[in-house]
Amino acid sequence: MGPREDNEQLRTFTGMALDRAVHERKQAARIRALRRDPAARLVAATADGVLVDGGERSALHRRPLDGALPDARPILLGLERGAAVFALDLEPGAGAGTDLTPPNEAKLISLREAALALPQAESGLAAYLVGLLNWHRSHRYCARCGAPTTVTEAGYSRTCSACGTLHFPRTDPVVIMTVEHQGRLLMGRRAGWPAGRMSVLAGFVSPGETLEEAVVREVREESGIVARDPTFVTSQPWPFPASLMLGFHALADGGEPRPHDGELEEVHWLTPDEVRAAATERRKDIKLPPPISIARFLIDRWLAARER
Ligand SMILES: [Zn+2]
Repeated sequence: MGPREDNEQLRTFTGMALDRAVHERKQAARIRALRRDPAARLVAATADGVLVDGGERSALHRRPLDGALPDARPILLGLERGAAVFALDLEPGAGAGTDLTPPNEAKLISLREAALALPQAESGLAAYLVGLLNWHRSHRYCARCGAPTTVTEAGYSRTCSACGTLHFPRTDPVVIMTVEHQGRLLMGRRAGWPAGRMSVLAGFVSPGETLEEAVVREVREESGIVARDPTFVTSQPWPFPASLMLGFHALADGGEPRPHDGELEEVHWLTPDEVRAAATERRKDIKLPPPISIARFLIDRWLAARER
């Protein structure tokens, strides 16, 4: 597979189409009514898998509630043609408490498989479902006082039963960037990656830091290269378990990159020919990130710009 033709938009895990029901979810009576509606549906996930329709697997499996939503405080994802779509956590110990054997026509697949199989809006819904459930699963206790928390706003917050602190779903910002010098691209291989696997650099944003500052800091920490003029390109939810990837392009004035902080095992300037040979799999010794990732989107976008 070569560099994608349509490189204007990153599709995987984006384009979630539900109405998030921000007003309805604050009204308990409205939530009860939505729950009683026979058109209400459940979509289900584990920490890194989703239940999809069998056969073509072109949609998340939507099942009627049928008593399979035991929680007094369900997690509402949103509205689809006016009907509620609730989230069901299939992880052991999540308290679902029902027979959750997938019906014959449904199948549990990994989120990465789903990213390849599902159309755009459904992959966006999958990212939303998994990301929100991951947050709920890891915030059952108050970060301030340790007491149990309960679901409020039909899943858009949790409230501490003891101190009353409100907790909101969080997503962790990660900057990821193409860095270019004289037409070459900075790429590295993380410790622990398979041999030959190379990608652009990335890292978590720190408190008290702008995204642009995070780009410059991460590039310097990981490679010793001084990046400048970062410009934002696009973003992607990445619920493994809770990241938001923020893609940038930056320039550098040269220098010999070398691993600095132990995160990378190697780091190099690669020519467009080298990157293109890897993208088209003419070269087997360099392997690029999978097509579902913003890393690959940024690399393909950079290559396409070299060809104009
Ligand atoms: Zn508390």
